[in-house]
Amino acid sequence: QFQNVGFIGLGNMGSRMVNNLVKAGYKVTVHDINRDVMKMFTEMGVSARETPYQVAQDSEVVITMLPSSSHVMDVYTGTNGLLLGENAIRPALLIDSSTIDPQTTRKISLAVSNCNLKEKRASFCSSCQQVEIIQFSIVSSIIDAGNWEKPVMLDAPVSGGVLAAEAGTLTFMVGGPKDAYVAARPILQSMGRTSIYCGGSGNGSAAKICNNLAMAVSMLGTSEALALGQSLGISASTLTEVLNTSSGRCWSSDAYNPVPGVMKGVPSSRDYNGGFASKLMAKDLNLAAASAEEVGHKSPLISKAQEIYKKMCEEGHETKDFSCVFRHFYNGKDE
Ligand code: NAD
Repeated sequence: QFQNVGFIGLGNMGSRMVNNLVKAGYKVTVHDINRDVMKMFTEMGVSARETPYQVAQDSEVVITMLPSSSHVMDVYTGTNGLLLGENAIRPALLIDSSTIDPQTTRKISLAVSNCNLKEKRASFCSSCQQVEIIQFSIVSSIIDAGNWEKPVMLDAPVSGGVLAAEAGTLTFMVGGPKDAYVAARPILQSMGRTSIYCGGSGNGSAAKICNNLAMAVSMLGTSEALALGQSLGISASTLTEVLNTSSGRCWSSDAYNPVPGVMKGVPSSRDYNGGFASKLMAKDLNLAAASAEEVGHKSPLISKAQEIYKKMCEEGHETKDFSCVFRHFYNGKDE
């Protein structure tokens, strides 16, 4: 088992994920450019470091949870980044849980695999028999992947949002060498309920942006249908009941209904506060668009969804939950 885990990016998601790592007994070292949040963790007894490079010095595994591709690239390859230091780094495993595009993930993964490990893990500890055996078992899993002397990067973005990050019930979608995924699983399980292995490097990122594309489009479809229904004289509650027992049912209709008053405990019932911000959905659609363009994939629904979410953000809804897109289709009286 890995014991020393570095964590970079202590925002809405990362701060909660760190709490769960600490609860699970990992020795965690953190970094964020926000000094206030670093102070908060130091006061809780968690070690904080000034740079990603310093975090790497103290960690066998480093997890990043950052806003976007450029931030992740900077934390890995920038001045004082994780990969600084004569191309030999200490962490055997680097896990990026940010939502970024698969192409950037693959570039960073290549940079990681061009590094060497600072210490051969098999000869890591000469004085402590127990640690030596544990270290060796991790090495053997990486040896099996034919890559034992190299550090490995996994992309492991998450689904579930802030509440799931807090409760430790996130879903991880993981790309990278399978044996590294197996070695990482206990760490992922301390922050999430489910992890799905998606294949080689970048496939976790690809799964995440495709999931969010499907979620964006189904939310738009559900919102348009519920708005049209009201204009045709059917209440949103009645139409929701019909959708949820018919072929139109989806997560947006039965678990995250966008019409105020139809469902309790969802963002639409509290003026679209909390939840998953429209600006994050717009960001993820931009990632999907860029990725689709790079592989020459035609994507008419991405373009339409992008256009609508961009407009929602420009109209001042950028921090509201993405289900507020119902307002784009319906400006009449709520339920
Ligand atoms: P956030 O903006 O709350 O947190 C990001 C943190 O990264 C901040 O504390 C910021 O100070 C820090 N940071 C930025 N640049 C840095 C740098 N160069 N070095 C060190 N720290 C740096 O974002 P979040 O909501 O925690 O989301 C993080 C990632 O998770 C994003 O990619 C997002 O798309 C994804 N995600 C978010 C949610 C959600 O519901 N919030 C759900 C699933 C996935």
